[in-house]
Amino acid sequence: DILIVDCGIGFPEAREMGVDFVIPDIDYLKDKTDKIRAILLSHGHEDHITALPYHYDALGKPPLYTSKLTGAFIQNKFKEFNKTPNVQIVEYGKQYQFGGFRTQFINITHSIPDAMHILINTPVGNFYHGPDYKFDLTPPYGKGPDFYAITKAGHDGVLCLLSDSLGAEREGLTLSEAIVGKTFEDEMRTCKGKFIMTTFSSNISRINQCVEAAIKFNRKIVFLGRSMKENTDLAKDIGYLRIPQNLIGRDNEVMKSPPNRICLIVAGSQGQYMSALSKLASDMNKNIKIKYGDKVIFSSDPIPGNENEVYGLIEELAMKGADVVYSDINDQLHASGHGSQEDLKFLMRFTNPRYMIPIGGTIRHQRQYQKLAMDLGYESKNILTLKEGETVIFEGTEVRLGEVVDTKQVYVDAYGVGDVGNVVLRDRLTLAEEGMVVAVITIDKQGRLANRPKVITRGFVFEKTESVLLESAVKSVEKSFNAKGESIADLSGLKKKVATQMEQFFYEETG
Ligand SMILES: [Zn+2]
Repeated sequence: DILIVDCGIGFPEAREMGVDFVIPDIDYLKDKTDKIRAILLSHGHEDHITALPYHYDALGKPPLYTSKLTGAFIQNKFKEFNKTPNVQIVEYGKQYQFGGFRTQFINITHSIPDAMHILINTPVGNFYHGPDYKFDLTPPYGKGPDFYAITKAGHDGVLCLLSDSLGAEREGLTLSEAIVGKTFEDEMRTCKGKFIMTTFSSNISRINQCVEAAIKFNRKIVFLGRSMKENTDLAKDIGYLRIPQNLIGRDNEVMKSPPNRICLIVAGSQGQYMSALSKLASDMNKNIKIKYGDKVIFSSDPIPGNENEVYGLIEELAMKGADVVYSDINDQLHASGHGSQEDLKFLMRFTNPRYMIPIGGTIRHQRQYQKLAMDLGYESKNILTLKEGETVIFEGTEVRLGEVVDTKQVYVDAYGVGDVGNVVLRDRLTLAEEGMVVAVITIDKQGRLANRPKVITRGFVFEKTESVLLESAVKSVEKSFNAKGESIADLSGLKKKVATQMEQFFYEETG
């Protein structure tokens, strides 16, 4: 039997140009779909659910088991693909049987409501699967972590704990989400203009906190951006977001109302091109303008790689007269959703596992997690740090590494899935870093130059000021041609010869 947990997207590195996101490689599973019993989804973040619609059919359309909010997000993702998935909303505390796996879902806290941990009983032992979490005792929405279920799992015996490790470098306990609600109130109290908050549109608890502050200060709430509107509509539908009717505002009434009666909650916190916030900043929203005295709050940190876009946006907003508040100047705007060292150690103590596998981080987070476990008296060999594609086999009380499954990056860009390969990415990188030079050459039937070659450049040197250089380039191409004519039987050889000549020329001239 096969049980899958989560199916999200990854974000490309800066050098993977034009790639929107990366989805998991499921080749290994393709001939085993008859064994897949279910996919369990731990919470509604992009990196845990968003690849589902891409892979659902190829995985044999297994049932999806998850919590209410996550289920609503998943349904919405599939709508864009005109597909209807089989989503089952789970009950906490109830047991679910998936082939040989008996499974129980545990309520946990993260930066999104309805996050879950999953306890999986197998014939070989119990596995505690603990993706993204922190122990938030005062979550702004929903119940606190289910300490009883967690410690009971530990009491019954956990063979292996798989734990989030992203916060393993940070000391102490992670702050509660509640701290952000207080910050919103403080910032709103001193704001005389429009109050504008931006965060990830899936961050329903953060949005809820801003809504609550707006209600307190009697500001009308307007959501901007497609993803923000969609997600908040979903959250309203299932009762996760409650806004009094008289405080629901519309885009076109914003500028007619007193600015200190307005709260905008806007998508585009990562500085995405043409997002609602970047349109506001560049005056492209026809209904709403940024004015002096408005306050813009960034309640999310830039994802590594997005810093330039985010800071560019902050500059633009400041230029329009807005007071911009972001985490560099106020560190209580954004509490991490991931547990710090003490949170992680709590879960180790509570579940008291024989083995641990740090997940959700890179190799340096895994190493750091390993050290934390060793502080608690574990031997390093019991903390398994895995690289992509590595498998682990549990047999009796023994554990060993299994075969390494070959996995590759599957890129999704504006044109579809998997169209972009490594060659395309390398070309994009070369074009971006070095520009390009094209030689246009016309030859006659005897293989002689029919007229003067043309050399065109883009992103390399400015042609007008470098006409001398380009003229020499033309001459060097001419010189490389045999006056009596080149063999035209081998055109690709001829092309290569010209290319090599130009490469040499430009290397010598420009370095
Ligand atoms: Zn998450």
